[in-house]
Amino acid sequence: MSADLVGGVEAGGTKVVCAIGRDPDDVRAEARFATTTPAETLARVVRFFREHATPIAALGVATFGPVDLDPGSPTFGAITATPKPGWQHVDVVGPLRDALGVPIALDTDVNASALAEHRWGAARGASSAVYVTVGTGIGGGAVLDGRPLHGLGHPEMGHVRIPHDRAADPFAGTCPRHGDCWEGLASAPAIAGRWGRAPEILPDDHPAWPLEAGYLALGIANVLLTLSPRCLVLGGGVMARASLLPLVRTRVDALLGGYVRAAAIVPPALGERSGVLGALALARDLAGR
Ligand code: ZN
Repeated sequence: MSADLVGGVEAGGTKVVCAIGRDPDDVRAEARFATTTPAETLARVVRFFREHATPIAALGVATFGPVDLDPGSPTFGAITATPKPGWQHVDVVGPLRDALGVPIALDTDVNASALAEHRWGAARGASSAVYVTVGTGIGGGAVLDGRPLHGLGHPEMGHVRIPHDRAADPFAGTCPRHGDCWEGLASAPAIAGRWGRAPEILPDDHPAWPLEAGYLALGIANVLLTLSPRCLVLGGGVMARASLLPLVRTRVDALLGGYVRAAAIVPPALGERSGVLGALALARDLAGR
């Protein structure tokens, strides 16, 4: 029954992924293209769904942020304080709802990834899960009792503060808002800025890696102590370094000091598709499918 199908859009800072389907094993159509201007990008999304002419029960949108997720807010659905040029205060929901005439579920890309990994991936079966991605930035989403975590806004785990020993590491950090927040110290641009070389070309025995593992463990320990998830999925381009995850686990255990049980810290199972699959999950939940 095509009426059971839903649509998903992952709107990332550099690329957009659109899909029609139900779950990871049932994706009927998929397309990806570069994120350009808001008008052009949203028009391409609309074109994808019109060209496929497949009835969808709802559309899930998983977007980069920060974004206003409060349905009672006059600016619901709008990107807020992003540094991405041209995208501040852009409504990403209204134009899609108007053009496609379907109900829309909205969340952050990382909350959507957390939902997808929880439903179909590495955190399947865990009652609570956190997804953290370490790449061009650090982002985190959480699923508690099967639902993505919202509050006043949405989690912005990448910007938590962690201890920074400036004698050991004089690098000032890359976050335009906070300097040496977690993302400012441990994202891929921070590694590249500190060492003058992209992370992917640093050898395994480079001092960058123990320092990176230490920073990642500090942020993760804060997340584990605050939310107490059963499973933490740790992904993103920086985590492609296979030797990093065991180092991070060891550092997290040392930081927790046996005080609480550490969550399972695992690599993602859905890879780069977690965002768009999470968008499908959001749409299915909204449509009651
Ligand atoms: Zn920051």
